[in-house]
Amino acid sequence: MPRIYPTPCSATSAGKSINYAVEHQCPQCGAPVTLGEDTRFFVCEFCRVRSCIAQKGFPRYYLSPSPDIPRDADLFYLPYWRFKGVRYPWDETGVKPRFMDISALALEDMPPEIPFSLGFRSQALTLKLISREPRGSFIRPLPSEVVLKEKAPRSRAKAPVFKEDIGETFSLIYSPFYSRENELMDGVLNRPLGQSQKFRPSEQDLCRPWAETHFIPGLCPGCGWDLEGRPDSLALVCRNCHSLWRARGNQLSRIKARFARPGQEGDIMVPFWKIRARISPMILSSYADLARQANLPKTITTEWENQPLFFWSPAFKIQPKIFLRLLTQMVIAQPDPPFSQTLPKNIYQPVTLPPSEAVQTVRITMASLFRPLKDILEVLPLTDVEPAEISLVFLPFESRHHEIFHPELNVAINRNVLALSGNL
Ligand SMILES: [Zn+2]
Ligand SMILES: [Zn+2]
Repeated sequence: MPRIYPTPCSATSAGKSINYAVEHQCPQCGAPVTLGEDTRFFVCEFCRVRSCIAQKGFPRYYLSPSPDIPRDADLFYLPYWRFKGVRYPWDETGVKPRFMDISALALEDMPPEIPFSLGFRSQALTLKLISREPRGSFIRPLPSEVVLKEKAPRSRAKAPVFKEDIGETFSLIYSPFYSRENELMDGVLNRPLGQSQKFRPSEQDLCRPWAETHFIPGLCPGCGWDLEGRPDSLALVCRNCHSLWRARGNQLSRIKARFARPGQEGDIMVPFWKIRARISPMILSSYADLARQANLPKTITTEWENQPLFFWSPAFKIQPKIFLRLLTQMVIAQPDPPFSQTLPKNIYQPVTLPPSEAVQTVRITMASLFRPLKDILEVLPLTDVEPAEISLVFLPFESRHHEIFHPELNVAINRNVLALSGNL
């Protein structure tokens, strides 16, 4: 049975989240750059060149071995999966969302001296991208589903009836070890972990884990203008030719988005994913289906029977309680303003939640809204959600003193919890 222990930093329900530092190099001038792990776009302090960072698959890092390790030591790196995000667990009494920051050894049957999780360690140290071969061997991890999803809860708390994780960061972190006589050594601190039989991973367990990291010039592929964006933004904007871009593989690809027309220049453009999903076995394709399942205090009309149902997910990270409220408010409102493909000159809320994560909000919306709760919780684990259509849309919100507000939808978001930035 895979063992999993939440790291001490999983107790971040106060809303504090941890951002690890990762060492990079500016692709233009070679200057060392230390960035947050969520950084996808940066401007070099030295040469002022803008770059986007794109990786194939999930990020893979390693912790630097101590310089005091003997040169002839047989160094090996063991993999840990790490998940950081928000868990939405439901039981009959409702949902209690919480921030998660967990890491778990991605191997079975290891000597007991090997720590089960990274604990605070990777937080205190800078991570390095596995881009070229450091000295030592790397061990192949078990699939993350096995390690992170099959939970063996340590506490006696009742397991949730239904849960969904909305991920922010998912990565593989390698930590160095070596054997010294009869001792297993922690390669980061160069300290003994305890007496152990000589441990050495077998040849067949080795792998080459480095992923290609691409640095893409932060220039608009359409017109050559400087792109703008917050470091963690998935969408970069060209204010010259009014286009949106996202790093994919080793190039930037254009993002199709639609914009509802702002009433005023000061309006904030807020991004949402508009999702049409095929849901089975439950029948949920029209607005009337939603009204019935959610027991909406409205009379179901024939028009609703023919009105296709769209789910709406914020395309940005925000406190779980507000995230849940927006999911339900938006699906009930089914906004349908006239959209245009022209980028208004307004201020934008950055896109920080990818479409793949947005699809996972569909079942969260259902659990939040459908009644009786007990019945829906039984059905949800067996419910399949297949996205049929997903598009990025921006809705203008009025900028008020303490909040931003959409009058027609009657939706308000507190400004303090929405870290606004001047652009995407
Ligand atoms: Zn530079
Ligand atoms: Zn452009």
